Amino acid sequence: MLEVKGLTKAFADKAVLSDIDLSVRAGETVAIIGPSGTGKSTLLRCLNWLEKPSAGTVTIDGVTVSSLSYTTNDVLALRRKTAFVFQQYALFKNKTALANIMEPLVAVQKRPKPEAKKTAIKILAKVGLEDKANAYPAQLSGGQQQRIGIGRALATQSPVILFDEPTSALDPEKVGEVLDLMKALAEQQQTMLVVTHEMQFARQVADRVLFMADGGIVEQGAPEHLFTNPQDPRTKDFLARVS
Ligand code: ADP
Ligand code: MG
Repeated sequence: MLEVKGLTKAFADKAVLSDIDLSVRAGETVAIIGPSGTGKSTLLRCLNWLEKPSAGTVTIDGVTVSSLSYTTNDVLALRRKTAFVFQQYALFKNKTALANIMEPLVAVQKRPKPEAKKTAIKILAKVGLEDKANAYPAQLSGGQQQRIGIGRALATQSPVILFDEPTSALDPEKVGEVLDLMKALAEQQQTMLVVTHEMQFARQVADRVLFMADGGIVEQGAPEHLFTNPQDPRTKDFLARVS
């Protein structure tokens, strides 16, 4: 479903990602963990060309973009293969929950409004907020806002959903409802890459955990292996500090 080869990213002269290779199967949930400043967000942003990689190729669901040569259409085709869930929800404050979910369908996919509304109503039920269709973000809790953010990602039916620390901005008591929704998506075989500090989630829900440090994937494996038997000293050190 997703294949990355030789992905490298530098900002000015500063190398942030170096020569990353990564394959993700359809239906797989991959958790990405590691110290801050290590390039996790940059990796996600390079996958859909929100950041232009300095080198490398990204293939998602049959669409390949290479840093060497590509067109705007290639990038748009690649972007349609992913949806992003941000730490800060990034909802439109002047739109209702329903309208926020409809937004990518109407504005990006150019679908007729009645059809987009039908889809959005189904999605609201899926994220457990059918009674909040007409609420504005300010009238919703952080957890509810993030569930709308996830709903917006689901609405586009993109094959891959990229989550960048989706629970980091939440009050502790709101984290569970968002993780529960993500767990349900994982069980439904939604392909997802999740940058997270929630080690319990990584351990219990992810099919695979990647540990990143110093701009690279240091080690990866099934959660039971990575958490109980880390090999690299950087992984051991990180896990000792977070758990
Ligand atoms: P993480 O998500 O693991 O915390 P990031 O991907 O956000 O790490 O950042 C990795 C490194 O790249 C950091 O040193 C950060 O300062 C740098 N960086 C990220 N975005 C930019 C940018 N737009 N311009 C310059 N440096 C950046
Ligand atoms: Mg980050």
